[in-house]
Amino acid sequence: MTRVLVVEDDRSLVRALVTNLKVRGYEVDAATDGAAALRRTADKRPDLVIVDLGLPMLDGLEVIRSIRGWSEMPIIVLSARGSEGDKIEALDAGADDYVAKPFGMGELLARVRAALRRATPSDEKAAVDTPHFTIDLSAKRVHIGGTEVHLTPTEWGMLEILVRNPGRLISQKMILREVWGPSYEDETHYLRSYIAQIRRKLEPEPSRPRYFLTEPGMGYRFEPDPDEGQV
Ligand code: CA
Repeated sequence: MTRVLVVEDDRSLVRALVTNLKVRGYEVDAATDGAAALRRTADKRPDLVIVDLGLPMLDGLEVIRSIRGWSEMPIIVLSARGSEGDKIEALDAGADDYVAKPFGMGELLARVRAALRRATPSDEKAAVDTPHFTIDLSAKRVHIGGTEVHLTPTEWGMLEILVRNPGRLISQKMILREVWGPSYEDETHYLRSYIAQIRRKLEPEPSRPRYFLTEPGMGYRFEPDPDEGQV
């Protein structure tokens, strides 16, 4: 049975989350402050943690950092904090995904399923097939129909980090660090021009992207099944 820990100080929201997760067959545990969250995480070893950022005792960010000190378990952040800085900080602290309040339960449950799928060890995918293009990750080749699409090494670097993490929100900082290097972490304008080039080459309608989505101010997400993934 898959165990989920809900960390949230709004008790009515805790009840709603616990009920919805249980109905879907998860074993659910809850904590209403940051210190209890860390104790429960250590005791119960959940498969996934949903954590609110604004918590008593210990802030949600501290909870994420502590868990990341010893575990790679998926962490989904829930937060009413609106600022981009908070969201980015949560992702950089090690959260896997971010859901802003108010949210639809269906959306949250979809994010939970996606995070658990990614966390399940499976053979590394060598190819990504979409209705519009195919990406061969080992050969580093992209095709539309039978025609190879040429990507520059930098375009490939950005494409690869997104495509290897399907459905996952990848922060701007992480892409810049991985593709350009640690001293480029603030050069977010690079990302805008490279994502535009990738869309121009791969998206059926580059001005209305379906596969390479922008999460404004936060990062980018590769959506492998655009029709199923929209929530
Ligand atoms: Ca709160």
